[in-house]
Amino acid sequence: KSSIKFDLSSRKKPRLSTTSGPSGFFSNDSLQQQRKQLPIYAGKDAVVDLVRENDVTVLIGETGSGKTTQVPQYLLEAELAGSGMIAITQPRKVAATSLASRVAFEQSTSVGSLVGYSVRFDEASSSSTRIKYVTDGMLVRELLGDPLLSRYNIIIIDEAHERTLRTDLLIANLKTILQARNGSASVNRTGDKGKGKHKMPGNYNPLKVVIMSATLEAEKFSKFFGGVKVAYIKGRQHPVIIYQTTSSQPDYVDAALRTFFQIHTDQPPGDVLIFLPGQEDIESLEKSIKMYANQVPKDSLSILICPMYAALPPSMQTRIFLAAPVGTRKCILATNIAETSITIPGVKYVIDTGKCKEKRYIAKQNGTGFDTLLTRDITQSSAVQRAGRAGREGKGFCFRLYTEDTFNALPLTAEPEICRCTLASSLLQLRCLSQNLEEVDFMDKPDEESIYFAIKTLVLLGALDTHKTLTPLGRKMAAFPLEPPLARALLAASDLGCTAEVLTIVSVLSTSAKLFVDSHDVRDAAVEARRKFRHLSGDHLTVLNVVRAYEDVSRSEGKAGRKDWCRKMFLNERCLAEAMSIRTQLRDVCERHQVDWKVGLREHEGSDGDQGLILRAIAQGLVQNAAFLQPDGSYKQAMGHTMIKIHPSSSLVDKKVPAIVYDELVYTTHVYARGVSAVPKNFITETQILRQRTG
Ligand code: ADP
Ligand code: MG
Repeated sequence: KSSIKFDLSSRKKPRLSTTSGPSGFFSNDSLQQQRKQLPIYAGKDAVVDLVRENDVTVLIGETGSGKTTQVPQYLLEAELAGSGMIAITQPRKVAATSLASRVAFEQSTSVGSLVGYSVRFDEASSSSTRIKYVTDGMLVRELLGDPLLSRYNIIIIDEAHERTLRTDLLIANLKTILQARNGSASVNRTGDKGKGKHKMPGNYNPLKVVIMSATLEAEKFSKFFGGVKVAYIKGRQHPVIIYQTTSSQPDYVDAALRTFFQIHTDQPPGDVLIFLPGQEDIESLEKSIKMYANQVPKDSLSILICPMYAALPPSMQTRIFLAAPVGTRKCILATNIAETSITIPGVKYVIDTGKCKEKRYIAKQNGTGFDTLLTRDITQSSAVQRAGRAGREGKGFCFRLYTEDTFNALPLTAEPEICRCTLASSLLQLRCLSQNLEEVDFMDKPDEESIYFAIKTLVLLGALDTHKTLTPLGRKMAAFPLEPPLARALLAASDLGCTAEVLTIVSVLSTSAKLFVDSHDVRDAAVEARRKFRHLSGDHLTVLNVVRAYEDVSRSEGKAGRKDWCRKMFLNERCLAEAMSIRTQLRDVCERHQVDWKVGLREHEGSDGDQGLILRAIAQGLVQNAAFLQPDGSYKQAMGHTMIKIHPSSSLVDKKVPAIVYDELVYTTHVYARGVSAVPKNFITETQILRQRTG
């Protein structure tokens, strides 16, 4: 394979300063010794004092300095949490679970006891848990049942610079919670409003808030809380030499492959960290590296590939933290999770494709507002963070697969999620707290158009009436840890008598893995195997057929037989296992809210029953995701103007049916609908008319 030309970057890197010192990570020092060698250790007392004396503290420190793992332990040891818990938020599920394991290990306990975690569809905690790593989404969910978050005496908002929608929502709510729990004197001295008026009965413990971030955007957080103190942790960063390509590289996966082997054959030992946008690219690069790995000279190091992405099973996550065995070079293929959330030891070389995936809603084209994940260019701030990962333990090298001109044209920082994502789910949660999106004091306000779309979505789903008032249905929908359309489908099913079936479908749609194994080399065989499950109406009932067959095989052939069967049928067993676990948890939620999850078509009909009811329930949830067939054979959105095609992976591809509903749109060469079912046209029109009339 031809090599790629790199130029040494002419840019000076003022932000990466040099200080020397042992990292301690590969030494035989005890775990506690390692903790003491982290940069934050020197500032331990200062951090504890700041938090003791202030209600809100902002803490800035470079990635790897020890903020996420150490600060909660310091605060617990200093007894600042009293008898309450410490919550620490993470934007990503994988980060929350893996950090909890690490901190439990440092405390010589197993995860779920003193140190626990809570993420969507998974929890490890007990009555003895004092430090809890949670996703920001989970903490927002806890607000619904406990608006003052009274179980926690310290709440640490971590990775605040990422400005996810949930983090912004929490930060806004923390401001009012502080006023209610600590009295107005502590934050924003705005007259006599707080005293008495906000003091809730029951005497709440005062709350401490710590905002942590890896980038320097501290002023904004500090100002938001009325000018609170900011502490800076001095990092330990070695110089990183940056190379940039001389020409642009349209195929970044191929460019990453060639660059990796250039490093592997020419450069001394040291692990390589490659940043890619998502799981598909990671899997495809992993395959290519394995294919070429046996062509390198016999005397070179062997290659150990470690993928790292959101849907990676926990058992595989721990591998990336282990040192590469002698004679091997670790090659970590990661999404931007490795940018600041988790620090991987041993990295000397970084390959930066310059791409990431970003959630964004495309309101203008489709008139409704549904989020899609788009691959896009990173920001300059991300590029600097990515390069920094190479200089944790010594001098490092970063290979950017883009030119210097491209770098200079990148935006400095990312737009907060609240300005580019659908707000329906957040709006619903806020309405349950009797708050309005328009009135909440956010760090950045969402624009009017997205608020309008969110209201429109919730009215269509029946969660708000036409006066924007929360309906009993809406309150029930919010109780489910599901996006509003799926929650609506589930509750519609309970009215129609097919809860069991729709619960199964919704569980599969909520997994992080794909149900069907799909790669080029097995495509024909996979299509053949899948034919068995195919349902004429499309993908939703096909999913149901798959799960039913899976349950039959589980019963008759047990665990080993099931595994074998999945492999033969080109089904992803991990997805099915995850769906079963999600279904169990959703059943619990059903029970708590008097929804009988056992009601199904099979039971009362003695046969498969009227499967049209299942589609009717699904259509009530996906009413905004509907499209009608046009005379020329294409599909046009029912509530927008976009022309869409049925995705090649759908069982309905090339079919012409009067109306479809779909799970999501994917934007590639065309706009494709994925997860498609054919439904009678009146399922869509009836719902629309009904909502317009009654709300
Ligand atoms: P920060 O939050 O400031 O970026 P962290 O507290 O996440 O820093 O990391 C501190 C140190 O702990 C790093 O050196 C990192 O490599 C190590 N670490 C974090 N998680 C794990 C883990 N699961 N296994 C081993 N080491 C870990
Ligand atoms: Mg951190």
